[in-house]
Amino acid sequence: MRKTIIAGNWKMNHTGKDAKETITGLVGRVVQDVKAEVVVAPVFPYLPMAVELTKGTPIHVAAQNMHWEESGAFTGEVSPAMLVDIGVTHVIIGHSERRTYFNETDETVNKKTKAALAHNLTPIVCCGETLEQREEGIMQPWIEGQIEKALEGIGADDLAKVVIAYEPIWAIGTGKTATAAQAQEVCSIIRKKIAALYSADVADSVSVLYGGSVKGGNVAELTGSPDIDGGLVGGASLKVDDFMAIIDNAV
Ligand code: PGA
Repeated sequence: MRKTIIAGNWKMNHTGKDAKETITGLVGRVVQDVKAEVVVAPVFPYLPMAVELTKGTPIHVAAQNMHWEESGAFTGEVSPAMLVDIGVTHVIIGHSERRTYFNETDETVNKKTKAALAHNLTPIVCCGETLEQREEGIMQPWIEGQIEKALEGIGADDLAKVVIAYEPIWAIGTGKTATAAQAQEVCSIIRKKIAALYSADVADSVSVLYGGSVKGGNVAELTGSPDIDGGLVGGASLKVDDFMAIIDNAV
């Protein structure tokens, strides 16, 4: 059985006071036997605080990005070993905003995914198509290509530790959620691709999340779909009440 994962991607939001209030609010409300695996991804400066505040709670802390190298002359970058050192357990890789604004490519996504696995960090690997690609009818080969390239050279044993997030670019921050049927269709395409690359058993073990305007009101239908194992949540992860509604309603 794959577990349901609800991950909050704060993006470049919340300075210290708001970050602390939000984490503290979640700590007070996410119960020990919460059904979903709850993950929060603040910006780098507040990761140690998030780790500290969530100690002994069921909440996991993710970084929003990292470099794949161990250390060295990479000004402005953070290594996987540094994230592990401060107690971070998950890392978002290849978000479409990083691909669009920061030259993230399928190749860097692959390197980062391998580096995360080598350091026992859970990679949340993002993929997704633009509206133009969907309208041109090339969504499926595009998604399959992103998955194949992201996972290139990664062994079957490691796949169970990989989380994939399908985030149609046209649904991110737009309030325009993919319908559960649209999201299910693509999450199923992703699982079938993994089955073709590895095996049906391996594909069954991988968690596939949907992201793009997930809210308390649509999460049940989305996560109730057979191939959708949770949500990667942006805007609605910034307020405790909104994020709790998603955690509580996920199935
Ligand atoms: P959104 O963002 O929930 O604000 O649409 C999702 C994401 O980009 O991870």
